[in-house]
Amino acid sequence: MKIHSFKVTPNLPENMKFLEELSNNMWFAWNWPAITLFLRIDEQLWEKSQRMPKWLMATVSQQRLEELSKDQDFIAHLNFVEKLYRDYQNNKDTWYNKVKDQGKENFLTAYFSMEYGIGEGLPIYSGGLGMLSGDHIKSTSDLGLPLIGVGLFYQKGYVKQVLNKDGWQGEEYPENDWAHMSVEAVHNEQGNNLTVDIPLGRETVKAMIWRVPVGRTSLYLLDTNLPENAPAHRTITEQLYGGDRENRIKQEIVLGVGGVKALKAMGMNPTVYHINEGHSAFLLCERIIEIMQDKKISFNEAKEIVWATSVFTTHTPVIAGNEHFDFNLVKKFMEPYVAQLGIGWDAFLDFGKETPQSPMFCMTVFALKLSAYLNGVAKLHGVVSREMWKNIWTGLSTSEVPITSITNGIHPASWVSHEYSELYRKYLFDGDDSLNNFDQSVWNKVENIPAEELWQTHSIRKEKLIKHIREKAVRQANRLSGNVNLARQASKVLKEDILTIGFARRFATYKRATLLFKDPERLAAIVNNPQRPVQFVFAGKAHPADTAGKEFIKQIYNMMLDPRFKGKIVFAEDYNMNLARYMVQGVDVWLNNPVRPMEASGTSGMKAALNGALALSILDGWWDEVGPCDFSWSIIGAQSYQSDEQRDAVESQALYNLIENEIAPVYYDRDQDNIPQKWIKKMKTSIKTIVPFFNTNRMVQEYYERFYTKAHYYGNILKTEGETAALAAWRQRIAANWPRVSIVDVTGNIDRTVLVGETLKFKARVTLGDLKPEDVVVQTQFGLRSLGGGFDSAKDFSMNMVGKEGDVYLYEVEIHPETSGRQDYAMRILPFNKALPHPFTPIYVRWEM
Ligand SMILES: *Cc1c(COP(=O)(O)O)cnc(C)c1O
Repeated sequence: MKIHSFKVTPNLPENMKFLEELSNNMWFAWNWPAITLFLRIDEQLWEKSQRMPKWLMATVSQQRLEELSKDQDFIAHLNFVEKLYRDYQNNKDTWYNKVKDQGKENFLTAYFSMEYGIGEGLPIYSGGLGMLSGDHIKSTSDLGLPLIGVGLFYQKGYVKQVLNKDGWQGEEYPENDWAHMSVEAVHNEQGNNLTVDIPLGRETVKAMIWRVPVGRTSLYLLDTNLPENAPAHRTITEQLYGGDRENRIKQEIVLGVGGVKALKAMGMNPTVYHINEGHSAFLLCERIIEIMQDKKISFNEAKEIVWATSVFTTHTPVIAGNEHFDFNLVKKFMEPYVAQLGIGWDAFLDFGKETPQSPMFCMTVFALKLSAYLNGVAKLHGVVSREMWKNIWTGLSTSEVPITSITNGIHPASWVSHEYSELYRKYLFDGDDSLNNFDQSVWNKVENIPAEELWQTHSIRKEKLIKHIREKAVRQANRLSGNVNLARQASKVLKEDILTIGFARRFATYKRATLLFKDPERLAAIVNNPQRPVQFVFAGKAHPADTAGKEFIKQIYNMMLDPRFKGKIVFAEDYNMNLARYMVQGVDVWLNNPVRPMEASGTSGMKAALNGALALSILDGWWDEVGPCDFSWSIIGAQSYQSDEQRDAVESQALYNLIENEIAPVYYDRDQDNIPQKWIKKMKTSIKTIVPFFNTNRMVQEYYERFYTKAHYYGNILKTEGETAALAAWRQRIAANWPRVSIVDVTGNIDRTVLVGETLKFKARVTLGDLKPEDVVVQTQFGLRSLGGGFDSAKDFSMNMVGKEGDVYLYEVEIHPETSGRQDYAMRILPFNKALPHPFTPIYVRWEM
């Protein structure tokens, strides 16, 4: 049977035409009045639509539309939403318009990520990385920051989790219903689909481009599922993280290389490129090639421009989580690019090798070596990343490895419940509902929310969570057994007045979803405490290939059936944005217990805090920047353990102790109106401490101030005629002369005790070969020696050139020690060039020997 399709669009009454525009912009996803407008069109259809307004509009009857067009209330609501939308889209008074300065006229950042969590109706995400990219994009829209997102257009959504009756995770791969998602094909001047050609080894694949409007920001998605492509090429973008290694490298070439080509084909000229996790790092190659061709300059010169304008964010402290490819695979598909770079295979592969002996090509290393601005996603993750990748910068102290950190955030408007949003609107924002102001003074006003009202709001959300979980449980029971009794039991799980702790995350083993079950006896006593009972909601998917993660799910599932835990510990199937929202908005406490320091940042706890939940967390990721504190609970482990077994035993007991002795008593401490005043005090402190900082508006501002503006600035310098040639020539002179650069001797050896603030004079005599003093900086590094060699923390003092004796230059500096105790110092020489954002690539550093 051959089935033909064609598309019919709704014939919208004149006064409802705005619905079409509204349906085509993901802006609705974080604007409750827009969502209620869709609900009002047809509540049941909206629930069924998976939050795809275009599907709703295509499904609702013409009669219903006609009816609504005559409904004054509906039209008033629609006009209100239209005004909100237009005011937002046309707002000139944005943060960016206030901070941008001269010379930023063409500023534009291109942001590349493998996944984006913008909304349920656009399932091109799997987990935290996608949520972060989605929230990043939304905040750029709020802030008015010029940025475009680039990603892939997957034919299938990410794995749907379906448990069997033994609790074993099965997977389904639903087809995405693109015709009804908020996307539009990008056309060329002739009105046909704009496509780009992407070489993959000896073959070429075509990709078309889709645009997703996200408020004011656009996200572009590449799609290889075109009839012109060979069957094996059509499926490259079939599924996020799907297929074998060969398909993965093809996906990453399509994303990185194809993304750069697509931007060019659309006439865009980004001045800054942000590589969000290593998947898209091949964009660096394509950019170098394009610049070599456009400017007719050498690889070395083009690389200077690309390096100075590229930002790279690493997200995973687990080595295996960093993308690695076999050299053969890289050779097979990157051949045409390496030929154009003209540097030969060995030199190319070196960019992807951490050390000369590295057996594989690592995308993270490739990005680290070719980007000037590098960061991890929380302070602790910065420390871990510097340690993890220090081999790339031999000669530097680990503390000086140029990977800094910018702590992740969330986009609050996307994660706040509308009930809480209403509270904030009323008590914090005087009726303005943009939830866009993160001034501490504004958030301090949570203290003005009456305790009963806050508690009431929280209770409403908790009821909704429990209702949602019950409905899911009933559906699951019906699917698995059809047994009426089981379905009836499922409809009664959890209770509204019991302390509820939530845990939802990817079931990667380091997240330790089963830590709570380490001592089932102890847990049973806590759960069934007659005065102070506790219940738990779990959710999370294991990667389809992760058997250990699936074992964890099965273990929790079986615990759930244990009579001691029945109806009190629930595992909710298929964790996604929707379930995440119910959970973070409804639980009392958000539990997070990864193995420290494996959690790069984590963001779900921030979502929970925004909605008044308190934290119970290991001091890892972002929480390491908050806890220990008096408004939530930190699981404090030992610095080191003899075994994983011992660590889990110690930390699970700490967890039980906190729940039993600290959390439950405060939760159940009620006043005469049954209000937990002490608990509510903690909720308020938590909200005002966490929300003003742990949000993506602050995060994007940091990326802008610390990275994007610099990248734009240095990119402009290098645009000047002759600058790259001068820089490349300078690098050659540095390389040629470096063996002759040395510190001959130093004076300043201090063999007595000095006073704080006293003036100390340090002198060095140095040789520079044929280099000039302006080619280098000579520094005294002053700080604390680290056990592993180098400094733990240090301050650099540039020394002044004060004279020359023959070939030897004399340098000195005066230093006033600011703290007492032991002080260490060392002297060194680094290359210096004002056209470089920093001197640490490739690394030349000469220490006193
Ligand atoms: C927020 C979120 C995540 C990331 O949360 P973590 O704290 O990093 O585990 C993952 N998946 C979904 C669906 C989310 O909403």
